[in-house]
Amino acid sequence: MKLIFDHIDFTIVGHLQSLLEAEGIKTEIRNLNASSAAGDVPFTQVYPELWVLHNSDEARAKEIVKTYRDQEAATPVGPDWTCPVCKERVEGVFSECWNCGAAAPN
Ligand SMILES: [Zn+2]
Repeated sequence: MKLIFDHIDFTIVGHLQSLLEAEGIKTEIRNLNASSAAGDVPFTQVYPELWVLHNSDEARAKEIVKTYRDQEAATPVGPDWTCPVCKERVEGVFSECWNCGAAAPN
């Protein structure tokens, strides 16, 4: 297994996981509950981590992450929005709800 990406914000890790899975890359997220456990582990900052199960997918996975990060950097970030379907809070960088896949309202 290879660690591809980690970020303090689970929604971004989860979004990248869905991008990789859509490309047929098997992934796993670790430290999913890191934020709630952080108070108990004062000396270790643990972020949610995105891993690929097969080392042979590492290069392709990193390319997908890089493409995503480049697009994110190039796109003006809109305000956060609330999903009209499941009421999840979604960051402005996303045009779809990370939780249920609904499109952002306009
Ligand atoms: Zn939703």
